Amino acid sequence: MANELRWNPILGEWIIVASKRETRPWRPKTCPFCPGSEETGYGWKIKVLPNRFPALRTDAQTSIESHGIYMVKPAYGYCEVIVETPMHEGDLCDIEINNLKEFIDVLAERFVKLGSDPKIKYVFEFRNKGAAIGVSLHHPHSQIYALPFIPPRIKRELKNAKKFWSKRGICLFCHVIKLEKDFGKRIIYENDHFIQFLPFFAMWPYETHIYPKRHVQSLNMLSDEERYALADVLKVATKTYNTLFDTSLPYIMAIHQKPTDGKDYSFYHMHIEFYPPNRDKEKVKYAAGIEWGAGTFTYDALPEERARQLQRACVKAIRELASKSYKPFGVCKEYMQ
Ligand SMILES: [Zn+2]
Ligand SMILES: [Zn+2]
Ligand SMILES: [Zn+2]
Repeated sequence: MANELRWNPILGEWIIVASKRETRPWRPKTCPFCPGSEETGYGWKIKVLPNRFPALRTDAQTSIESHGIYMVKPAYGYCEVIVETPMHEGDLCDIEINNLKEFIDVLAERFVKLGSDPKIKYVFEFRNKGAAIGVSLHHPHSQIYALPFIPPRIKRELKNAKKFWSKRGICLFCHVIKLEKDFGKRIIYENDHFIQFLPFFAMWPYETHIYPKRHVQSLNMLSDEERYALADVLKVATKTYNTLFDTSLPYIMAIHQKPTDGKDYSFYHMHIEFYPPNRDKEKVKYAAGIEWGAGTFTYDALPEERARQLQRACVKAIRELASKSYKPFGVCKEYMQ
C-alpha cells in the first residue's frame, strides 16, 4: 500500500497517489453514515469520521524513490468526513439552522485542530453533491483534506491578493465586494454579515461566491452571530440552486481559508465558492478541450443574465423556506430593486 506525493515538474505541482483507494465501495447498498451504522452509532446530530479510504495518512509510505526532478514524498496528512445530519437525504437547505451552525463550528474546530499539526500546511474543506460530481455516498456529508503543501489554486489566490495588498494597500476580496455592491446586478443574496454573488469573472455557468463582509482569514475567526449568518446563506444558496431548475442540483462547494503554515496571511480573505456543473436542467458543462487542455474557461452566456435567473430562483427559494417556517435573515437582491 502506498500513499505518496509525486511532483509534476512540468506544471510545478504535487499529485496525490494512493494505491489502496481503488478498493473503496461504489455506492454501497446500506448507508454507512445513517444512525445506527457501525461507523456512526446513535445519538448525534453531526459526526466527524476518519475517511476509511484516505488519500493522505500520517503513516504514509512511498512505493518508489525520488530520482532527480521526479520527486516523491510520503502523502502525510488527514482525510476526514463530516456527516452533517442524521437525515439520509437532502441538501444543506434541508438542515435545521442550529444544526447547520453546529456544522460551521465543526468546520472551524477541525481547521484549527488539523492545522495545528506542524506538518500540515493547508486544511481544505469541501462538499461534493450529486452523481454528476461523482459522489459515492448520498447521505449529506462534507470532506476535509489536511495537506502537507498549499494547493496551486490557493497559491494563485494568495499571490494575487498579496500583490494587490502591497500595491493598493487594501484587500483584493474586500475590493471585489465593493465592486459587486457598486454594480449590484450580480448579487444574489445578502444578510448582515455575508454576501453571495455570481462573480464578474465566473468560470462555471452558475458559479457563485460567498464572502464574509468582515475581513477574516478563516472560519474560526467568525463570531457566533456571523456563524449563524453563514448558516443562513448556505441554507438560502443551496435552496436557490435546487429551485433554479426545480431539480436537486449537483455542485462542488469549496471553502478557501488561509494556509496553516504559521506565516502572516492578514492580506487574505476567506470565502466559499460554489461550482454547479449544469448549464441547464439536463445539460452539464464539461471541462473539455479549451478548459482542460489549455486552462482557459469559456462562458457561453452573460454572467449578468445568469445572475438574474439566480435572483429569480432566490426569491422563490425564500418564499418556499418561509412556507416551511424558516425566515431568512437577509434579502434577495431583486427584492431591493
Ligand atoms: Zn444515510
Ligand atoms: Zn478583505
Ligand atoms: Zn477562492
